[in-house]
Parts: sequence; structure tokens; C-alpha cells
Amino acid sequence: MKNTIQYTILPKDPAAHLFEVTLTVPAPAAEGQVFVLPAWIPGSYMIREFARNIVRISAASQGKAIALNKLDKHTWQAEPCDRSITLTYELYAWDLSVRAAHLDQTHGFFNGTSVFLAVQGKEHLPHVVEIQRPAGDLYQAWRVATALPELKAKRYGFGTYIAADYDELIDSPVEMGTFELATFKAHGVPHDIVITGRVPNLDMARLTADLKKVCEAQIALFEPASRRAPMKRYVFMTLAVGDGYGGLEHRASTALICSRNDLPVKGQKEMSEGYRTYLGLCSHEYFHTWNVKRIKPDVFAPYDLRTEGYTTLLWLFEGFTSYYDDLMLVRSGLIDEAAYFKLIAKTVNGVLRGSGRTKQSVAESSFDAWTKYYRQDENSPNAIVSYYAKGSLVGLALDLTIRAETRGRKSLDDVMRTLWQRYGREFYEGEGIGVSEADVEALFDEVTGLKLKRFFDRYVRGTEDIPLARLLAPFGVEAADGRKNQKPALGIRTSKDGNDCKVANVYEGGPAHEAGISAGDILIAIDGLRVSATNLEALLSRYKSGDDVVLHVFRRDELMAFTATLASDEAPQLAFTPQSKPAAVARARAAWLGTAG
Ligand code: ZN
Repeated sequence: MKNTIQYTILPKDPAAHLFEVTLTVPAPAAEGQVFVLPAWIPGSYMIREFARNIVRISAASQGKAIALNKLDKHTWQAEPCDRSITLTYELYAWDLSVRAAHLDQTHGFFNGTSVFLAVQGKEHLPHVVEIQRPAGDLYQAWRVATALPELKAKRYGFGTYIAADYDELIDSPVEMGTFELATFKAHGVPHDIVITGRVPNLDMARLTADLKKVCEAQIALFEPASRRAPMKRYVFMTLAVGDGYGGLEHRASTALICSRNDLPVKGQKEMSEGYRTYLGLCSHEYFHTWNVKRIKPDVFAPYDLRTEGYTTLLWLFEGFTSYYDDLMLVRSGLIDEAAYFKLIAKTVNGVLRGSGRTKQSVAESSFDAWTKYYRQDENSPNAIVSYYAKGSLVGLALDLTIRAETRGRKSLDDVMRTLWQRYGREFYEGEGIGVSEADVEALFDEVTGLKLKRFFDRYVRGTEDIPLARLLAPFGVEAADGRKNQKPALGIRTSKDGNDCKVANVYEGGPAHEAGISAGDILIAIDGLRVSATNLEALLSRYKSGDDVVLHVFRRDELMAFTATLASDEAPQLAFTPQSKPAAVARARAAWLGTAG
């Protein structure tokens, strides 16, 4: 095993949330082997400095300690050594999210980016990892779930797993514990569903049947002729908690966190909002198997995990994935057209709510993800636009534009398939070339035969609102604006702070902004009547637009009074309704949504 990097990982002290890792390099670099832990995890564009969780670390060769010098926050160098080196380190794992590592007596979960130091210059070699069972009777029933291929382990067993290189190793999270497990095949490829956490009466059969539909629809979208999935096996791993939501994509698996109540209960037939949200999340991360895990921005091919990777294209990689996640639910028959247009309206109304959309384009939002989207504060609605939400509307608008202008001959699906064929299909087998912004635009024109530069200038590089009502009309979808009947409002968003009403955001140009209210203020009274965490809307409902009210607030511990002139609520209330006539537009819509016949 001269040319193999070898790790062991042991949940050494689950109660103290400690993993112990050993790393053996058979032939270290002559000048002193360098080791580095990633500063971020692909898919979550924020510097997280995972090395801060390394509690202690040491190096040895032939059983004798050797020096290990720390070069910067996440880099070490061993003293020059011509024999094999073994590093031993202890890691603290107590991050209940899909982005890092978590360990206690109920389960263990880790991403390789949090636990496996890279051996610099040897990242291309095969990497093997022995996943060890924690000691003690409590852990005898534990199993292992991961998309990593087994080397010396039974499926779902502790033992040795192998990755072709470091990139595959850290792109294959591992779950261990007493999870629920079900398996289905999507176009011949085995898919596991792994659920961790207590979920009474979980309807695993329904979950299996529904996810199979979503997966098969996506495989068929990218490979309509061969129906070939891009991976040999796929694992959906979900941690169910009281209240939570999130997911992270990987090349052959995804790690998800959801609220227990979003998962289906045996006997429940209807599509609850929570379950639809969960299926949408699964659909989103699964779509990334093609879009971002194989079709990638050039700066991620390969990733530099020591520092930020800047791309203006997250509107495509996250936005289009957000467009397709719900679209695949309607195309696979899990939700109907009416439900789908409610989801679109929710996204449109959310994007239109903040004035940030007039200041930041989705290209800029992508580039600044590291410091803005991922580090939001109380002013974010007035300063930024989401490359997820507006990016999904860019995807929708491009799809509708292409379909309308080519009279249904081409669609966004054709563009995605061409991206897939040129950049994605051979990504891990071939040279691994990424996509540049210029490539994307040229490819759109080439595939569709249209000239789309003006569209990109206005809605991707520019900050114009997308005219969705006009674009949806040829598909028999009517837009209505319910704003005119709205009640007077302050132009704020509030949050509960105990029984207090705290101002979370102040919308620019609204009555609260004009009066001088600030985010963080605690609302005490309106015209002398006490404001609580729950009664603001009821108090405001006795007034009409144009009325002046006196607001008492605490800012820090100082009582302040302001006079605000109420205005009708500026929150957009667009609604979209599909019409069944004329038949031609209903047909165009059915071709788009896959609802024909
Ligand atoms: Zn995503």
C-alpha cells in the first residue's frame, strides 16, 4: 500500500464529542510533508476554518515522535523523514448541521472536510479509511452509511472504505448509528434512504415511492435515451430533529436535516406543506448531482479549499437547481399545477419584498456569497438579492422565453443537457473542465438559436425585475396582484423575543424607516397600548392608511418615542392561476410542466 494514503477514524469519546483520527503517509515528501485541513466545504460558501476543532495533534515515524510545525491556521509540516509518517489527532465534533461533524451517544456524522487532513501533493492518490466502531455495549447495534465504496467492510458495516482520491474522500459524508434504512432502485441504480433521529410511525414506504419518482424524472431529464444515472449508488442521509432545515450536495449522496414533522406519518395521505418542503429539498440536492457536482464553475475545477473561490455563476448552479427542484415535483406528479404556481408566487413575492434586488445583481450576489449571502444581517433585505430565489426566477424566465421564442422546439432542458454532455458527463473520468461565464452565454445562444445577451444584461448582470406576468401569459397563467386591498402596516418584519416584539428588519422607505425605527428595537406600545410578541397585527388593524401613530420602543435600555404615518402594506401579493382555455396555451403549459395526459 505504498501509494495509498491511509486513515482510521474512531468515535473515541462520544459523550465528549471526540473523534480520534490517524493518518499514515507511506512515502512522505522529502522536504517535510505538509498537511492541510480545508477552510470551507464545497456547497456552503463560507470560510469555516474546520481546523479550529483539532484539539491535539502529533506526528511519529517508526514509533518515535517527530516534530510537527504549524505553518498557519490550518497547515502543518512534519520534519523531513524518509520513512512512513503517522499523524494522530483528536477532533471536537459538536456541530448539528450538514456542514461539519457531530458525535454523541445517539449517532455520529462527519464530512471529510472536517476530519481528514489532506496530504499536500498526494491528493491524487487512492485514500482508504478504516471506520471503527466505538467501544462499549451501547454501540453494538450501530451501522455505517456512506456512498464510499467498501474495501474491507460489509455494506453498512464498520471496516475499510476506499476513495479514488482526496476529493472523493471528502465528498462522501458518513453517518453511523441505529438509523432507519430503505433502498430503492432508480433506473437500475440502488438508492438508500437513511433516517437518523426519533420519528414515530415514519411512512418509509411512501417516502421510498415518492423519492423514486423524483430521481427517475431527473435521470431521464439528463439522459433521455440511455436513462443512465451518473453514479453507481446514491445515499440520502437525513437527520430528523425538532426544528431544522438544510441540505448539502455531494457527488453520490446528500446530507439533509429536517423537522421530524415534515416526514410522512403512516396513514397520512395528503401532501402536507412540510412533506412537500422535504421532497423539494431532496429534489434540490439530487439535482446537484449533475449541476455543480459534475457541471461546475471553472473556479471549482478543482476546488481550492484553503481560501474563497469566487464565481459569478451561483445563479445558475444554485438558482437553476432551485428552479428545477419544485419543477421536478410537478413533472413527477407529486404536486399539481395549482400547488406549483403557489410556490412560484411565494418566490416572486419574496424577491420583490426587499429593495436589495435593485442594488445587487444575481451575478454580484454570487460573487459576494462569502461575505454577504452567507453572512446576512438585519440590513440584508435592503442590500442584497438571493442568487437562489432570483436565480430560480432567471431559470424560469429563460425556460419560458426559449419555449415561447422557439415555438416549443427548445427549452432550458436542452441547455442543461448540452452543459451536461460537454462538461459534466466525463467530469470525474476525464480532465475535469469547468464552465466560465462566457461559456454559459455562448452555449445558451448556440443551443437555442436565440440572441440572449440582452436578457443576461438586464436580469443577470443587471438588477431589473423579471416581467414574469408577461412571460407566463403565453402558457395560460394569469397573474393577479392582491396588493390593493392590503391593511396599513409599518414596513417592518418582527421576531419574538420572549413575550416582546422585536424589530428584525426595517424595509427601506417604509413608515418605520421614515419615523426612525431601527432593527433591534423592542416595540413597547402603539398609541399607548402595549405591544406583545403576538398582537401587533391586531393593534394595527384598527387604523387606516395615512393615520399617525406614536410608537414607544426600547433601543438598548433607552425608552424612545417616534411618530409613524401608516401606509398600506408594500409587501407584494402576486398570485398565478393556470387557465384551461384556450387549449393551445394549456398544451404549451402541459409540455413545460410534464402534465400532459
Ligand atoms: Zn443547492
